[in-house]
Formats: sequence, structure tokens, C-alpha cells
Amino acid sequence: MAEKLAIDGGTPVLTRSNFKNWPIITDDDRRLINEVLDSGIVAGGTAPQVKGLEKEWAEYTGAKYCLTTCSGTAALHMALAALGVGPGDEVITSAFTFLASASCAIHQNAIPVFVDIDPKTYNMDPAKLEAAITPRTKVIIPVHIQGLPADMDPIMKIAKKHNLAVIEDACQAHGATYKGRMVGTIGDIGCFSLNNFKNVSGGEGGLFITNNESLKEKAGLVRCFGDEVDEVSKRRVYNASILGYMYRNQELPAAHARAQIMHLDENNDVRIANANYLTKELSKIPGVIPPYCPEGCKHVYFMYNVRFDPKAAGVDVDPKTFRIAVEKALYKEGMLLGQWQTMPVPGQDLFQSKLGYGASGYPWTINEDKGIEYDYSVGQYPEAQALCDNYTIVHGIHAPNGIDLMEKFVTAFKKVFANLDVALAHKDDEIYPGADGKLYGAA
Ligand SMILES: *Cc1c(COP(=O)(O)O)cnc(C)c1O
Repeated sequence: MAEKLAIDGGTPVLTRSNFKNWPIITDDDRRLINEVLDSGIVAGGTAPQVKGLEKEWAEYTGAKYCLTTCSGTAALHMALAALGVGPGDEVITSAFTFLASASCAIHQNAIPVFVDIDPKTYNMDPAKLEAAITPRTKVIIPVHIQGLPADMDPIMKIAKKHNLAVIEDACQAHGATYKGRMVGTIGDIGCFSLNNFKNVSGGEGGLFITNNESLKEKAGLVRCFGDEVDEVSKRRVYNASILGYMYRNQELPAAHARAQIMHLDENNDVRIANANYLTKELSKIPGVIPPYCPEGCKHVYFMYNVRFDPKAAGVDVDPKTFRIAVEKALYKEGMLLGQWQTMPVPGQDLFQSKLGYGASGYPWTINEDKGIEYDYSVGQYPEAQALCDNYTIVHGIHAPNGIDLMEKFVTAFKKVFANLDVALAHKDDEIYPGADGKLYGAA
């Protein structure tokens, strides 16, 4: 007889105490953070931890230049500003990403345009990219979603053909590679996040890399108020030459990030081993679709994404209802899982209302006043929408969690999929799946 599901009063497969949190704090964090405390230097664009972080991330990625920022979002905006993107320019990104991949354009008075995803990789579909290009397009921002590199070769080819710059949003993909090349170094600029969730944590923070010296110089100005530094005295002159922001990082987050980078490869290896184990086992369960990693890519599994197919599971119910029922039943078994993005980014109110700044409707009205229309109806992104209906994120695949925990996940999946009728009977129970913040070092 099948075991009784926890959602039906049975015993859960696992408990919260089976999970270990992320990020992992080691003696390297303690040592480098103590260096900050002992030095008395807590901030500054040329301070030792910030400079060390920039040097080490440039070395790690193989980029010529690195600048650290206060967030990944700041790095993305800084990249657009450094490229000279301006009012009414269009910036193309993926329909399935975090808001910041698109809102960075609005911060520069530019207009985001979205491209639907490839249904297997969940990255921007290069076959749909060219149709989104207009005479106003300036930049393409492919996103290496959930740790899997976007298909950069065709994207770079199209960018070259149309003379467009490419900013890689690598905020989820520290250490991922595409055909042997480190993500972030393939386009003109690469941007990484250092928030506590990401594969490299600084608590908060960001990283900007480029091989282009003039882009680095311009970004450096944007990072610090647009304020020039006197070449001889090396002092700020308090005479802004361009519009800038305050996007500097600081010593304590930089020290933490440096310590995390020391362990990036070994921690990515644990994610990959856990993910490969789950993929091998979960692919045996009809109706479970594990993530896909194309030949030539190193996926670093910032997130482990699972999709569900009710038809393959032998159930006659719509994909969204099925996903919700399975999520709730797995959550009650003790798994931490749930959705991240719940809709394609253009579906968010910001794009549906196109309110932007104040009541002016900027930046859209810049072009709409000239008769150009922007349509963000989500029906244009059917693959991103289908994904949002039937995916969930399995939390806890990060180090130091190992195969023992993954085995429990597989047991929970098998248990629920052997009792789908029971899970579906509880589909409307008031249960709210997800991870608690503490799993990722958040309060
Ligand atoms: C996390 C993230 C960002 C923004 O990073 P922050 O450091 O949180 O500002 C941008 N793009 C993507 C795809 C992200 O996942």
C-alpha cells in the first residue's frame, strides 16, 4: 500500500533541520572581515578589500577590468550608462528573468523590449531575437538564467550584424561557462550580483567586468557621481563631468565576497553534483521535467528548476493546478520549494500600466509621442507563460547540503507521485510553499 502523504496526515519525509543554510561562512570570511576591522578602513573606492575583490574577480573571469558596486542592479544600470544609452533607446532582454534585467533600462530613460524564451533552456530564444530589433535598439541583455549560460554565439552574431552592444546579466551565473568561455566575458560588459542568495555572496553588492578600457573608465565615473579625479593629485575634484550615481561597494561586503570567491568552484561543484543526481533520479518519474543543460555549457545551478507535465503523469488536469497541488504536497513532506517569478516580467504592473516616472509615463511617452507603440501583452511570450504555469524551484541544492538530502527529495517526489489523487484532493488547502529567508542568510 502507498505510504500516507503528509498533506493527508502522514509522516513527512524530511524536516527543516535536514537543510543547511547558504552562504557558508568559513575562517576565510572571519580572517578577511577581521582585516577590515583591524585596519580601521571601512570604505573607499581604492580601499584594500574593494581593490582586492576587483583584482580577484578579474583574474577569476579572465576579464581585463572589474569594478565592484553596491548591487547587481547598480552594475547593470552602470553598464547602460557607460554605453551611452539614453532617452527613447530600446534595450532587449528576456521575458523570463528578474525585474532588474529590464528596469535598469528604465533607470536610463530607455525602453525595455522582451523576447520569449527557449522552452528547454528558459533563456532568451535567439530565433526570436531579430524580430524585436528596431532602429532604436541599442543593447541586448541576455540573462544566464538560473545558472545556465544563454546561447551566446547566435546572440553575438545578431548583435554584430545590427551593431548592438551586449551586456550579459550574469547575476545568477558566477563561474558558468559557454563553450569554454566564462560568462560575463563574451559580450561587451558582464554584470554579477553579490546578494546573499547568489552563488557568490557579499551580503549585498555587485560586480561589473569588461575588456574595454573606455567602458571601464566611463563606468567608474558613473559609479561615483560622475565626479572626475585629478590625474596628478588623485583627489576628487568635485566637478561632475556627467550624470552619475552612488554605486560604490564597501569593505565589509567586499571582504565577505573575496572569501566566498575562494570557495566558488568547490561550492559550484556541489551544486552540480546535487543537480545531476536529482536530474538522474527525477527524470525517471513520469510528469517531472528536470532542468536541461546543452552540450558545451557549464550550468552552475543557482536555482534547480523542475517543471511538471500532468499528461505524462497520467492526470487529466491543467498544468498550473497540477503544479500547485504537487508543490503543496511536497512542501508538506518537508521540502522547501516554490515559485520565484510568477509571470513573464512584461506582465508586471509596471509594464502593464506603463506609468514609469511620476504621472508622465516616462520613458514610454518619449517614443509614444512620436507614434511608436509598446505592447506588453503577455500573450506574446507563450513559452515564458507556460513555464510560469508549471515550474517550481527546489531549494537546498547548495553546499554544504549533499546527496543524503537529495535522496530525501527524491523519496518525497516518489511518494507524492505515487499518490497524485490525494495530492490533487488537497490542491485548495491553505498551504504556502516556499523557502524561509534564513535558508539564504536573510532575516
Ligand atoms: C539578482 C539579480 C539581479 C540583481 O541583483 P541585485 O544584487 O539583487 O541588485 C539582476 N538580474 C538577475 C537575473 C538577478 O537574478
